[in-house]
Amino acid sequence: MKYCDFHIHTIFSDGLLKPEEVVAKAKEQELSVIAIADHDAVDGVEPAIRTGKELGIEVIPSVELSSIYDNIDIHILGYFIDYKNPELLVFLKKVQVQRTLRAKRIIEKLKEQGVELSVERVLELAGTGSVGRPHIAQALFERGYINSFDEAFYRFIGYHSPAYVPKMEISPGEAIELINHFSGISVVAHPGTMRRDDVIYHLIEEGISGIEVWHPEHNEAQVEYYLELAIKNRLLITGGSDCHGGRKGKLFLGEIRVPYEYYEELKSRHEKILRKADCGKRNAE
Ligand code: AMP
Ligand code: ZN
Ligand code: FE
Ligand code: FE
Repeated sequence: MKYCDFHIHTIFSDGLLKPEEVVAKAKEQELSVIAIADHDAVDGVEPAIRTGKELGIEVIPSVELSSIYDNIDIHILGYFIDYKNPELLVFLKKVQVQRTLRAKRIIEKLKEQGVELSVERVLELAGTGSVGRPHIAQALFERGYINSFDEAFYRFIGYHSPAYVPKMEISPGEAIELINHFSGISVVAHPGTMRRDDVIYHLIEEGISGIEVWHPEHNEAQVEYYLELAIKNRLLITGGSDCHGGRKGKLFLGEIRVPYEYYEELKSRHEKILRKADCGKRNAE
């Protein structure tokens, strides 16, 4: 049997592993297909594809976009996104700039709480990737303000916490549209963490193509529920470890093993999208 992990982060967002290291770990775990899905970034895709070719692992170019609906953070995965498209790169750059400004605002708000973090250190922890709250959590940890990542979120930077600052606001519909525009396949990430299943129906109305059924934060009942929901609504089915390379204390890579048949479905949808785009181009000529 061949297995896949459709959701992995790298140093190009808030993961701890380089794309090359992710691919090597995937090989160790005997995975056949992985998706590099960084928050608002695609820089990890090319190095992962290169290493994947050497090690015999297929890499799906992907991205995880953040959107907001009804004050809930909704993450939309974009599979097979046209990761070299200059227009996409300009958009992602804009989001990354906003993320940096937001990190600075979070640090200012922390200061009002008597918590002193250096902007330079947070940006250093983020390296070349999209800056996120996990980098702030790491800096808080280093300075001894917290004992666990969870504590960082519930005391300081989580939703409803004093130093919470939202990200650039795009709606799930806009995220889906963007992914479609760049020939990708939109999939709602970890729906179980939203705790609002009605939102999924909103996403279906907005044209979402798939749902992440398997995720470390989904229990068995949720997996069954989302699987059934996917089948009833003809959604594509994916799953992934959401591996951040040990940032949350656990590696997760290899824990979620999605059968290869779901990759084939995803790939055949991607090929259909490409054929359609080709047809459109030829008709326009
Ligand atoms: P951001 O994209 O900057 O809003 O950061 C969101 C990321 O923070 C998520 O993708 C998770 O990786 C991480 N995160 C969110 N909530 C928690 C939590 N309670 N504990 C640890 N990590 C979290
Ligand atoms: Zn993350
Ligand atoms: Fe996510
Ligand atoms: Fe993720």
